[in-house]
Amino acid sequence: MAIARIVVNIADAASYDVRIGAELIEKLGGYLRDVNQSDTALVITDENVGPLYLGAAKASLVEAGYRALDITVPAGEGAKSVAVASEIWAAMADLKLGRDVLVVALGGGVVGDLAGFVAATYMRGVAFAQVPTTLLSMVDSSVGGKTGVNLDQGKNLVGCFKQPIQVCASTSALATLPEREWTCGCAEIAKSAVIDSDEFFFWLADSAEALARRDEGVVAEAIARSVVFKANVVAEDETESKGVRECLNYGHTLGHAIEALAGFGTFSHGEAVAEGMRFAMRLGAACVGTPTDVVLAQDELLDNLGLPALSWSAEPESVLDAMKGDKKVRGGRLRFVLPREVGLWEVVEIDDETVLEHLGAWAR
Ligand code: NAD
Ligand code: MG
Repeated sequence: MAIARIVVNIADAASYDVRIGAELIEKLGGYLRDVNQSDTALVITDENVGPLYLGAAKASLVEAGYRALDITVPAGEGAKSVAVASEIWAAMADLKLGRDVLVVALGGGVVGDLAGFVAATYMRGVAFAQVPTTLLSMVDSSVGGKTGVNLDQGKNLVGCFKQPIQVCASTSALATLPEREWTCGCAEIAKSAVIDSDEFFFWLADSAEALARRDEGVVAEAIARSVVFKANVVAEDETESKGVRECLNYGHTLGHAIEALAGFGTFSHGEAVAEGMRFAMRLGAACVGTPTDVVLAQDELLDNLGLPALSWSAEPESVLDAMKGDKKVRGGRLRFVLPREVGLWEVVEIDDETVLEHLGAWAR
């Protein structure tokens, strides 16, 4: 299978490549050597991914002349903490690593966000590369440069922007990904397609069944299309200051509220986002005239990707409250990313009464 190479161009940072293809972990060292001359590479991974792919990653780094070190953190969202970041800083200082170390994140979005934050802060910043191993991290979190950790008070409350020197997405690593993690990535791909264009959306609708059974060519193309989409958005609005990047939150306003209300872990992030997309389409139909066939086409796409409508119930008022915890609230009014058509979105402020009315009909 061909290897796709997508260049991410960001005004205030060096541009970098996202490589997508089979068995890239085996070639990692050579790829990184092309753009980095460090003596030492420190691979940060988690306890699920390490036993599967750390050996191959380190072997390839050593072959390319790196001294390869590694740190393994616990798997799961809990590792995205100041405490774990602090343990890594201390371990790096104990190892006497200098400013020339290359930090390599090998894992999903948790490892990517954590390792990126550590790389951005250790000695005021060292080089950083991403080797995403979940579908979500390949299509979403490894591109765009957001890094950070959670606080008890909320997710991603501390962090910074740190662009990698390269992203190396080896589709072979997806063979071991559990189904629930798979559909999390599919939800973000569907989100990207709805926001991006008819072309992406109808390609995905036609390919949904092949994507759900992880057909290699379709998987690589879905990742490449999503990366191109996200890279373009980020290039226009690196630090989320121009409003363009807001489109990446499509489906997430209700999605985050459902995750929080049901208790984190009850529904996956992808399941909750897909539900948020279904809700946003219906708000769109009511508020900005989104055509019914678009609403139904998205429903069908999500069904075919293994993201059926959820069964959940909640008091509309508590859902509204949870949505108001969202970072995008301005002056107390809720803002939703609504597609007027596929590929044509806008951010709409909607008053509480209208939101409550729609939630009443929705949160069965
Ligand atoms: P994750 O990193 O927790 O990975 C999910 C699970 O899959 C973990 O248990 C992990 O150990 C396991 N795993 C990873 N790769 C595997 C593989 N190839 N085979 C078997 N198991 C594997 O979760 P995620 O969904 O990748 O990322 C979620 C995180 O990403 C969240 O913290 C979220 O906030 C963050 N995120 C960041 C951005 C950003 O722009 N930086 C964007 C979206 C999400
Ligand atoms: Mg998301």
